[in-house]
Amino acid sequence: METLDYEESIDDFKRRIFDLNTMLDIGKTLNASLSLEDVLDIIILTCSGHFHSSDAIILLYSEKDNMPHFICDTEEEAMSIECSDPLINFINDNQRVLEKEDLKNIPGCKKVYDRFNRMEVELIVPLSYKGRINGILCLKQKEEEFGSVYTEDEKQYVGIIAGFGSVAIENARLYEIATIDLKTKLYNHGFFQNRLIEEIERSERYKTDLTLLMIDLDHFKNVNDTYGHMVGDNVLIKVADTIKHQIRAFDVPARFGGEEFTVILPETSSDDTLIVAERLRKSIEKLSFPISDGNKKVSDYFNITVSIGFARYIHSASMTDDILIDNADRAMYHAKEHGRNQVVFYDNIKEIKAS
Ligand code: GH3
Ligand code: MG
Ligand code: MG
Repeated sequence: METLDYEESIDDFKRRIFDLNTMLDIGKTLNASLSLEDVLDIIILTCSGHFHSSDAIILLYSEKDNMPHFICDTEEEAMSIECSDPLINFINDNQRVLEKEDLKNIPGCKKVYDRFNRMEVELIVPLSYKGRINGILCLKQKEEEFGSVYTEDEKQYVGIIAGFGSVAIENARLYEIATIDLKTKLYNHGFFQNRLIEEIERSERYKTDLTLLMIDLDHFKNVNDTYGHMVGDNVLIKVADTIKHQIRAFDVPARFGGEEFTVILPETSSDDTLIVAERLRKSIEKLSFPISDGNKKVSDYFNITVSIGFARYIHSASMTDDILIDNADRAMYHAKEHGRNQVVFYDNIKEIKAS
């Protein structure tokens, strides 16, 4: 009998060591990731893979629209909880893994309890960084074949993952603040400069094509002067969105500064770059922006155009990132000088410029 207990304990220890090693591996993967999307995916995949949750969602802290709340707006689920909700107070006071039933008798939590019930949420796990809640992980019912109910061990491990996850979410947020332009949500100038150097190194190593677009809004000062800065800002946001939608996932769009944008196109020939640039120019030309009258009613629309210059990276010892930027810039200015709203390839003008 004693031997059996002893063997059971050994097995139990072995299982725990295995589980903790798995948690550490997941923690390492989470800490190595700087993309918020990846971090959320890893946490959710861990919940279904390791804890057999039928599904999981993560509500993230957001101050969007000057209203602090926790929000999840994935394709599958849309949910928002205001920070003033009694649930958030309760979570703040009880920073541990909670069961849905813990909320049942909390004053003011009936609505959110019913909602979680409908969604089949079983565990509510605060993601807290330095004592501040930056997210809420909600695990739905455990898959039936694994026993439906989360064990105490599983709840403990979910807590460990939540600890790693909240640090990873914070890291991803800080990285985003450091690399993304607040207004247009494209990469900022600093990120662009670093990526261009990296892409040049990659292009050199594998002898692949690399091109660079420089995009400048035409007569943009007139937009500000005529319709005001807020309308101007909205134009910048819409143009940035259009750029994002017209390029491939591995192209790198950035706000170069003011009303100038740039796109790095790895593994792209000049011919293909011309096609992309023309498609982009035409889609921006097609955007229409409403003009409001004194009564805030739309009275008319205005359009905007862009001048685009592009250059290719030449595999030679004398070529640098600065030269590539300068060449694309020269091509863009050539487009400006020759009537705007057009695309110019640096190779087609360099002889003219040199003479
Ligand atoms: P061109 O066709 O020669 O490029 O003319 P332009 O008017 O676009 O160029 P200019 O350099 O004279 O003016 C750029 C304007 O862009 C002036 C500046 O106030 C405006 N601008 C730069 N950044 C922002 C911004 O973040 N928001 C708004 N609304 N305007 C901006
Ligand atoms: Mg301009
Ligand atoms: Mg400009």
